[in-house]
Amino acid sequence: MKRVVIIGGGISGLSTALYLKEQAASAGHEIDCLLIEKGSRLGGNILTEKVDGFLIEGGPDCFLSEKPWAAQLCRHLGLGDQIMPTTEENKGTFVLSKGRLHEMPDGLILMVPTKIMPLITTSLFSWLGKLRMGFEIFIPPRHSKEDETLGSFVRRRLGNEALDKIAEPLVAGVHAGDPETMSMRASFPKFMEMEDEHGSLVKGMLARMKKAKEVQRASSGPRPTMFMTLKGGLSEMINAIVSRLGSSSIKLNTSVSRVEEKGGKYFLTMEAGGAIEADSVIFSTPAYISSWLLVELDNPLSEKLQTIPYVSTATVTLAFNASEVKLPKSFGFVIPRVEERKIMAATFTSRKFAGRCSDEYVMIRCFVGGSKNEYLVALDDKEMVDMVRGELKDIIGLNAEPVLSRVYRWRKAMPQYTIGHLERVRWISERVHQHPGLYLTGSAYNGIGISDSIREGEITAKKCLDYLFQKDAQA
Ligand SMILES: Cc1cc2nc3c(=O)[nH]c(=O)nc-3n(C[C@H](O)[C@H](O)[C@H](O)COP(=O)(O)OP(=O)(O)OC[C@H]3O[C@@H](n4cnc5c(N)ncnc54)[C@H](O)[C@@H]3O)c2cc1C
Repeated sequence: MKRVVIIGGGISGLSTALYLKEQAASAGHEIDCLLIEKGSRLGGNILTEKVDGFLIEGGPDCFLSEKPWAAQLCRHLGLGDQIMPTTEENKGTFVLSKGRLHEMPDGLILMVPTKIMPLITTSLFSWLGKLRMGFEIFIPPRHSKEDETLGSFVRRRLGNEALDKIAEPLVAGVHAGDPETMSMRASFPKFMEMEDEHGSLVKGMLARMKKAKEVQRASSGPRPTMFMTLKGGLSEMINAIVSRLGSSSIKLNTSVSRVEEKGGKYFLTMEAGGAIEADSVIFSTPAYISSWLLVELDNPLSEKLQTIPYVSTATVTLAFNASEVKLPKSFGFVIPRVEERKIMAATFTSRKFAGRCSDEYVMIRCFVGGSKNEYLVALDDKEMVDMVRGELKDIIGLNAEPVLSRVYRWRKAMPQYTIGHLERVRWISERVHQHPGLYLTGSAYNGIGISDSIREGEITAKKCLDYLFQKDAQA
C-alpha cells in the first residue's frame, strides 16, 4: 500500500489528509496516510478555548465568506447549521486618528469609497484627503505586470491619508504586515485586477457590488456577512476533521527533524529518534520549518524557503462586567501605525459574534506585535495584560477590572507576502517538481487565510494521488 506522510497538523495538513483519504476512497485506491504533528494538540494556529462560559478564539476568529472553501468544508463535515454570521446590528468599525476614534464612513469597502455623502461628512479624513480619494476615478491605470507594494499602490490611487488611516491598519493589518514591503500582486490581486479592468478602484468596486447583488437576488438563502464563524468556535472544524481521520492516522508529540530522498522514496527522521519511509511526503509546516527539514535533500530549495519572512503576533482577550464598560457600538477599532500605539486593533468579540459569553459580560480581544511591534510578543502575561489595559484606558477610557484575561502568542506564525513573492513561489514550485512525490502546502504560498489553506489542501491531495496512481498505471 502506498504511504503518504503529512508533516504538520494545522488546518492545511488536516484538510490535505482528509481530502487525500476521501479522494483515494472514491477512486478505489488504498493508501496509508499518516499525519505527524509536533505539538500535543491539532489545529496549529486555530485554537478555541471554553473557559467558565467564555468562548475564546486564541488565533483566527472567522473566515471570509468571499472565499468559499472554509464554509464548503464545514458543510461537508456536517457543520453547515453551525456556520454563523456577524451580528449585523453591531456592525461598524472605528479608526483611531490623532488620538480620537472616528467611525469608518459607510460605503468604504476595504479601502475604496463607494458612497459620496459619508465620505464628505466623515471626520476621519481632512478635506484634502477626501478630495484626493474622490479624485481616484480620474487617475489613469498603470497597466503593468510588475509587482508593486501596497504602500505605493494606495498612495498612487487614493493618496497618503487613505494609506495611513485605512489601507495600512485595515488591509495590511490582516497580515500584521508593513505596507511598504507587502506585495500587491500576491496579497491583494483583486485590487490590481479592478484597476486593470475598470481603470479605477471606485468603478471596479461599484461593478463588483452590482454583480454581487444580482447573485444574491438569484440565490434564496440569507445573505452571508463578510466574516463568518462557527457557533462553537473554529476548533469545531478541527475536531470534525480529526474524528473523520481517526486516531490511527495521526501521531502527536512527534517532531520531524530531517527528510531525505533515496531511490524515489522519502525517509523522515524524527527528532526523538526513529525513521519513517514514505512514497510521498507533504510539508504543511511554515516555510522556514520546511526549509530546515529540506536542508540536506535540496539546499537551494531550502534557502529559497527561508526568504519567505514571518512575523510574530499575540492576542489578548479580556472580559469585563458589562455594567462597568461602555463600548462604542461596533465590532471594534483599528489603529494606524502613525498613531504610535502598542496595540494594532481591538475586536469587541462579544459584539461581533453572538454566544461568545453571557450578556452579563463583554469580551474584547486586542492584537499585539506584527511587523512594527514584534518585540512586544516577548512580554510576559502580566506585562502584556497591563500594557493592553493601559492602551484601552487611553483609547476608550476603559478602567474596569477584567474578570478574565487570556494571552496567546503566535511566534513567527504570519507569513509575509513581500514584493516578489509570486516569483519566489513560482521558483519554489518549479524546484519542487524535481522531487516527484514531494509537496509543499499551507499559508506560506498562495493565500494566507483559513479558506486558502483548505483550498490548497484539496489541490495538494489531488496532485499527490495523481502522482501515486499514475505512476502505477505507467509502470
Ligand atoms: C493571530 C492570528 C489570527 C489569524 N486570524 C485569521 C482569521 O481570522 N481568519 C483567517 O482566515 N485566517 C487567520 N489567520 C491565519 C490562519 O490562522 C492561517 O491561515 C492558518 O491557520 C494556517 O494553517 P497552516 O496549517 O498552514 O499552518 P499552522 O497552523 O501554522 O500549522 C502548522 C503545524 O505544523 C506543526 N509543525 C511545525 N514543525 C513541525 C515539525 N518539525 N514536525 C511536525 N509538525 C510540525 C506545528 O506545530 C503546527 O501545528 C490568523 C493567524 C494568526 C496567527
